[in-house]
Amino acid sequence: MSVLRLMETIREGWIKRVSQRIARGAGVRESSMEQLDKFYEALGYSLDTGDPTWLEHVIDGWMHGLTESDLVGEKASLSKILSEMLLGTQEYTSEVLTVEEAASLHASLLPLFTFAYEYATSRDISLRVDHVQRELEKAQFKLEQIDKSKSDFISVAAHELKTPLTLIEGYTSMIREVLPASGGDEYQESLFRGIDNGTKRLREIIDDMIDVSLLDNDLLSLNFQPMWVNRVLSTLQVELNEVLSQRQLALRIDDFPGAGEMTFGDPERLYQAFRNLLINAIKYTPDGGEIHVSGRTLPGFVEVTISDTGIGIDPEDHARIFEKFGQIGNISFHSSGKTKFKGGGPGLGLPITKGLIEAHGGTIWVESEKRDENSFPGSVFHVMVPIRKQPPDERSKKIFNSLVDGKNNQ
Ligand code: ADP
Repeated sequence: MSVLRLMETIREGWIKRVSQRIARGAGVRESSMEQLDKFYEALGYSLDTGDPTWLEHVIDGWMHGLTESDLVGEKASLSKILSEMLLGTQEYTSEVLTVEEAASLHASLLPLFTFAYEYATSRDISLRVDHVQRELEKAQFKLEQIDKSKSDFISVAAHELKTPLTLIEGYTSMIREVLPASGGDEYQESLFRGIDNGTKRLREIIDDMIDVSLLDNDLLSLNFQPMWVNRVLSTLQVELNEVLSQRQLALRIDDFPGAGEMTFGDPERLYQAFRNLLINAIKYTPDGGEIHVSGRTLPGFVEVTISDTGIGIDPEDHARIFEKFGQIGNISFHSSGKTKFKGGGPGLGLPITKGLIEAHGGTIWVESEKRDENSFPGSVFHVMVPIRKQPPDERSKKIFNSLVDGKNNQ
């Protein structure tokens, strides 16, 4: 009997057997008889014409029917279904055909199954890649939404807090004026100092929140002017002197190459960036430690390094600390003391610092072996500040030139 004729005689029984086997073995829903029937028919056409591409159409239809949930995990892999089909064919034909008939049918069907298997595998892979791609896009979209909500919240909260804070500051100075002069009343002075410290800290936090939202929305504009990195650093040394001696910390600033070179930058914003880094070095270094600022010139840049002998940062946190609210460790350590050992803040300092350095065209990264509060491995923050001999944009050029002209005409 010809192979095609053989196939015709076992058609009904094959479909039933294979359908049960697939439902059991491949773990999918009761397999559709109709689809198996189509596959069987395509096998016949392929045999008859010698063209296996008849099978592609059926496999594509099958693929099309897979739902998103089928694509999660290995359950509904078409290659697995095809393997079950081949095994089912072997099982069934050995029961209902003679050994010779079964052997000749297998010899004809095997190349077709191999073709179907290869085709299904490649379609399967591309379908799964598309599925993973879609899932990644969804996750990315969610992350962007979350980031936007964070950013919107910061911006709204900052503006909502600013008004009552201004009121508190205003009323405090009015109370000061209406109260009879304290004349050395230490208690009264300490009450005012308490309010001043609180409002100052609150203003710093609100200013940080505003800076984060400006950076997030690309609204921060820099005032480029001639500046010198060493001047920024020595001003900071003076400002931080008191807190350094309270915490018995030594701050050593080298006179490194490039520090005294003039560059166009925004000195106030760079001051803010280096201040954040030094405040962090103070905060995360135990009393008696050392903070060392050094650097070197590289083509087009001056690289500043801020090293401390503090608790260090685990490598897996090196990227996270530059993200908004990226503070690590125990939230209960949060305190309002900005320079207390391990006194955490809102986690906005480094994202702002990174934003400010990047707005200048520079980069920032951290090196630290690990976080260890016993051995204090320390951290090194690297900051690359571009050296610019000209203001970088037309706006700054105009402002700078008009200032120079104004001076020359005086
Ligand atoms: P925070 O307000 O919490 O200090 P930052 O954005 O300035 O926020 O820093 C984020 C986190 O990075 C900190 O909570 C701290 O865990 C870690 N960190 C920053 N600087 C240092 C440092 N010099 N040594 C150790 N850890 C640091």
